[in-house]
Amino acid sequence: MGCGSSSTRRIMMSEPDCLFCKIIAGEIPSEKVYEDETTYAFKDISPKAAVHVLVVPKHHYANVAELAGADAAQLAHMVQVAQSLADDAFHGAYRLIFNTGRDAGQSVFHVHAHVLTGETLDE
Ligand code: C5P
Repeated sequence: MGCGSSSTRRIMMSEPDCLFCKIIAGEIPSEKVYEDETTYAFKDISPKAAVHVLVVPKHHYANVAELAGADAAQLAHMVQVAQSLADDAFHGAYRLIFNTGRDAGQSVFHVHAHVLTGETLDE
């Protein structure tokens, strides 16, 4: 996939009790679809579309607002990864969702982009 990281090199921080930090570290299995220095992407275990991938930064941020404030380049890179996945899966068409806050459906508090693609999506 032709999308190198645009983030500057930095120390990756993980949280000991974070499910996605454990997935990134390989302590919990996942179906990896993409990885680079800063970013990891894997198939959602409960897919809501023909292709449902979660794109996560390796550095731990609780949600997309925290990420945007701390490292906008990393957020932009996650969008590029999503675009590249959808270019391969479904001619570049995709839905990108960041659930933010428990009442909006966020259940894992390590920021992740849901990439839904691979089929025509309902409106
Ligand atoms: O937006 P939300 O925080 O609810 O998304 C978490 C997602 O992580 C869910 O779609 C869930 O299916 C997925 N998940 C996963 N692998 C796990 C645990 C959760 O893909 N081991």
